[in-house]
Amino acid sequence: MAGYREAQAIVLRVQEHAESDRRVTLLTPGGHLTARAPGARKAKSRLGSILQPAAVVEVTLYEKGRTPTITGVSSIEAFRPLQEDLMRLSAAQVLLEICDVTVGEEDAVKPFLTLAQALRRLSEAEDPAAAWLQGELALLGAYGWGLQLDRCASCGGELAPPLKYPVDFGGFACRRCAHAGGVGASERAVEALRAAGRMEAPGEAGTEARALLHLTWQAHLEGALRSVAFAESVFGA
Ligand SMILES: [Zn+2]
Repeated sequence: MAGYREAQAIVLRVQEHAESDRRVTLLTPGGHLTARAPGARKAKSRLGSILQPAAVVEVTLYEKGRTPTITGVSSIEAFRPLQEDLMRLSAAQVLLEICDVTVGEEDAVKPFLTLAQALRRLSEAEDPAAAWLQGELALLGAYGWGLQLDRCASCGGELAPPLKYPVDFGGFACRRCAHAGGVGASERAVEALRAAGRMEAPGEAGTEARALLHLTWQAHLEGALRSVAFAESVFGA
């Protein structure tokens, strides 16, 4: 049945389509959707200028057939500082890819709100590394895979080193629980994750902490995140 509807959405991905159109993948509170943005590749297109990755928008959708058409759009948050800073933008791409590959058709209120907040922090935070790590931690929580950082995720005891990080375990394993397997992890990486949770700079161990989280996404999503290598090269430069 054809009809119009309005939706709030975060732009996850934009692809060129046909001669002058784009296909836009959106995360809405009601789930994922891909819509056609007619004429969005034309220089003066309002749809094209507003529908940029990471933007929070309100769209009017005309639903007929399999792919809805975007007939109107207004900007809710464009996150200018994020769009103009390669470091912030490359980290944002990782968060957008996570939601792109994770969300199905189901209810997505929590991921939607969590992603919007993470992008705002990434746009405004003094330390983009803290905001990136904090965003991934928050998204893990939003998808039901939150990490236990205060104690051993296996026995509940103190996190006594040497630590292991079993990648889909929901946290770290202490010396006594090393049989749980996983990769070796430093205490500084745990500290970096705790610091990011408080929006404090993770320091040098931030790189190790991110690598651990990316192993976790890879385990849950059954594939590596493609945008990580570029973001790491920007942060490492
Ligand atoms: Zn333990």
